[in-house]
Amino acid sequence: MHLPSDSTASAASSAAARLCGTCGMCCDGVLFHSVELQPADSPRQLASLGMKLRRKKGVEFFLQPCSMHREENGQCSCKIYEERPERCRAFDCRQLQAVAAGSKTEATALEMIRTAKAGVAAANELISRISETNPNRSLAHRAANALTLARGAEKTPLQDELESAMQGLEELLNKEFRV
Ligand code: SF4
Ligand code: SF4
Repeated sequence: MHLPSDSTASAASSAAARLCGTCGMCCDGVLFHSVELQPADSPRQLASLGMKLRRKKGVEFFLQPCSMHREENGQCSCKIYEERPERCRAFDCRQLQAVAAGSKTEATALEMIRTAKAGVAAANELISRISETNPNRSLAHRAANALTLARGAEKTPLQDELESAMQGLEELLNKEFRV
């Protein structure tokens, strides 16, 4: 995620800041399930800033939705932006890369973000109609839970709808956002 940093920010980074401000999908559990810390990160400092870190087989990571992510009135932000982990600083999704390379306009990237977020909203709506899921888990995790069948049960039409919505959404996220 990129947000405005200072008044000398380049046009490309300003566009990135505006796009990320309306998106947040690399922080809110839509694109990723978890993020590994890198050698340059200080787990101690991040924990002191309030990040909920986990450790498995010697690897430190945090789950998404990230506990530092905020979304208010459709505007996304990172509570620890200046101190955010390395992977967050380094990540430019395909939309940002295309805008920076000049192969896509900011308006076209914004349209793609809106399309993806509409797909996410539709999937969330279906999930909430099928079952209660943990809001602190990624979209893929919650969808998988909603699609889990009790022994002997058959898939419902709503589950069929969710399965196909998630398939279309994942294809879009892989093609247009993940790198
Ligand atoms: S997915 Fe891309 S546009 Fe969205 S917040 Fe992340 S880097 Fe920014
Ligand atoms: S630390 Fe900030 S930039 Fe990184 S995932 Fe969390 S909200 Fe996003």
